[in-house]
Amino acid sequence: MTRKIRLAVLSASAAQSRGVLRLQDDNSTCIISGYGGKNSPDYICGYCGSILAKKHDLKLLANAATICNVCQEYNDLCRPAKFQEPPVTIRTIAKNQAQKKAFRDSPLKQGPIHNKDLALLRESLQESWMKYQGERPEILYHYTSYAGLHGILKSHSIWATDCEYLNDPSEGHVAISLIESYIDSIKGVSSHCQCLLKSIRDRLEHYKPDAAPFSYFIACFCTSGDLLSQWRAYGASASGYALGFSAEDFGGYGRMDVRRIIYDGETQGALIKGAIDGACDALDMTIKHTLPDQQDPQDIITQFSNFLSDHLHQFMLTFKHRSFAEENEWRIVIPFSRDTDTDLLRFRSANGLPVPYIESDLGKRNGPKGIMLPLVEIVHGPTLHSELTKKSLHLMLQAYGYDHVDVSGSESPLRT
Ligand SMILES: [Zn+2]
Repeated sequence: MTRKIRLAVLSASAAQSRGVLRLQDDNSTCIISGYGGKNSPDYICGYCGSILAKKHDLKLLANAATICNVCQEYNDLCRPAKFQEPPVTIRTIAKNQAQKKAFRDSPLKQGPIHNKDLALLRESLQESWMKYQGERPEILYHYTSYAGLHGILKSHSIWATDCEYLNDPSEGHVAISLIESYIDSIKGVSSHCQCLLKSIRDRLEHYKPDAAPFSYFIACFCTSGDLLSQWRAYGASASGYALGFSAEDFGGYGRMDVRRIIYDGETQGALIKGAIDGACDALDMTIKHTLPDQQDPQDIITQFSNFLSDHLHQFMLTFKHRSFAEENEWRIVIPFSRDTDTDLLRFRSANGLPVPYIESDLGKRNGPKGIMLPLVEIVHGPTLHSELTKKSLHLMLQAYGYDHVDVSGSESPLRT
């Protein structure tokens, strides 16, 4: 029986830098022929499993890259794949572009609702949720420094920072003040609705980041991999890196939410109004339909308050001031409890201040030998020496098992 060795999938940029061997069309022999011994194994494509080469002289093929005749992915002709599943590459993403997946990853979907009016409200809020959060971009980019890049590849994880320590001090407060002022502007509602609104207003106090008994850890991503303002954020030298991840592969496992930031004030206001007005209408309906001896109105109000505050809470994690709009941010949000999750905490220093963070593998498990990030591309900053940087990035990627990741340079014009 012939041994089959699955080869490491290479990115196009890595393959081009080595020189690509073309295999013959019957995809059984190599253009450079040779003999690898009596028990020479079959080398199979690390992506689709087709046989790439049967017999060859390994010396002749040292450092060679080849393209698979069947799936057109590049392979390293000498290195066996480290991971059992074929990786997601930037080419896979380009091919799949047409088939968009809808993400219904909202807190609203959780648990059965027995109240008919509340169930209808949930359905309509779910619809507006999907409009903003339902369709992810193919690739999301995380900008980082050299230290960040190396740490991410080495640990196969992204660092999610405690939301209190993020760059924007108004984080969380944009939504709270909009919700407060909208509630304060509401006049002439039923007494039950007044109770509901008051309980929401009280709960807001507990949601302010510095008062909350729980916290959120956040890692930020951009929709663009070559954004001048983001390069500048890594100092005047603009020598950072943008790491592109396959966004569809976020959150397969574990407790992690993927959220798009909403910057437009009118949209923010409309979402808050829709949720609060909708809840008030549904509450009035329910009270009207419920016979007084059936259920205590206070219980119904509590049920509505729980539902509405869960929904409004999402706005605190997704609304930001319009001055940040250029960032076009998406983020991962990991809930954190000070009672049960402290063993997850790690710390790094920012100007001598200990900043808490949590390592996240982005929820994608890839093969039994380890967890890999769904990394597909790295763009290096505009001031770095392109050829040398690409070369060393390819070596670094190879060292950590990310041979399939594409490398390119920023095209931003940057005066230094
Ligand atoms: Zn193939």
